[in-house]
Amino acid sequence: MLTSPSTRYEHFQTLFPNEPAYRWRQIVTALYTPGWRSWTDVKNLPAAMRQALIDELPWQTLTIDTLQTSAAGDTHKALCRMVDGQKIETVLMANARDQWTICVSSQVGCAMGCVFCATGKLGLTRSLTTDEIADQYRLWRDWLADRPALPQRISNVVFMGMGEPLTNYDAVKDTLTTWLTDTDLGPTHITVSSVGLLPQLEKLLADPTWPSVRLAISLHAADGALRKSIVPTSAPDFLPQLADWAKRFLHAKNKRRNHLTFEYILLAGVNDSPRQAKQLADFVTRIGKIKVNVIPYNTIAAPDLQASATTAITQFKQKLTDCGVVVTQRKTMGDDIAAACGQLAASEQK
Ligand code: SF4
Repeated sequence: MLTSPSTRYEHFQTLFPNEPAYRWRQIVTALYTPGWRSWTDVKNLPAAMRQALIDELPWQTLTIDTLQTSAAGDTHKALCRMVDGQKIETVLMANARDQWTICVSSQVGCAMGCVFCATGKLGLTRSLTTDEIADQYRLWRDWLADRPALPQRISNVVFMGMGEPLTNYDAVKDTLTTWLTDTDLGPTHITVSSVGLLPQLEKLLADPTWPSVRLAISLHAADGALRKSIVPTSAPDFLPQLADWAKRFLHAKNKRRNHLTFEYILLAGVNDSPRQAKQLADFVTRIGKIKVNVIPYNTIAAPDLQASATTAITQFKQKLTDCGVVVTQRKTMGDDIAAACGQLAASEQK
């Protein structure tokens, strides 16, 4: 049985080096067929191959280790174990359409070290394989199927769990391609959130096969020194370089479905003043049509950081609106189960 984080495809090729390509397509289709829960269900494969798959290839690469449900019942958070014993978090959240949004991880830990983030405190252990990312969708789909009283459809995915997705570019891209091919998820319902690593952003922009999903760049400050203090991996001249990239991105992808969002976590007394809102608005409007999504801070990762007061959040948003910026606010969910990424894994590591 597979015990190292190689992909199912690599393992399948080792087991069956001479199989025609359609066999692998049959296997991927089987993995995404609702109601099929093991290799035993895949009756269209030869019996000997089915038995080899049962013996050697995990149907699901993730096992739920710990599951927490919020008091409101609208958020479920799983700490999952993978074949090598490493653990990641994935979250299922009810959304406004009476469907579900899942938040997925792309790495075990993260190397970016954002000061407000529990995952950043863990450091990076390894990147996930395509299967380990994609199976987070399959895990929640099957978990819901076992609870028929709940809404069943997963309509949205956000890459806002553990890790920086663009440092795991190929696996994230393969996962997106698989989901867009083998599930009913549409590109406008998937958001890849990145801290904004400029070489990876350039690679994405130059990549004609990068799927047309939404992108969210974590900005958090429109002042270079302040941003560096919040996101330590900020490159010198990050803000002008990001502005230049964003203009080229918007020009190249001039379609609504490619739209770009800047994420801005509001930290009391750090980046939430009206002056900083004006600075942000100036930065955004100089680039073009980019929405700002403000995020109330709700983690316990950094005891010296506090959430902005409700009045400060309201004033900040109003200032942006007055300056012509489209602004939304992320709904905070599951505070009682520490649903922000990395908190469960971090508390277990302690
Ligand atoms: Fe990594 Fe995202 Fe946390 Fe920053 S916020 S440390 S990029 S997981």
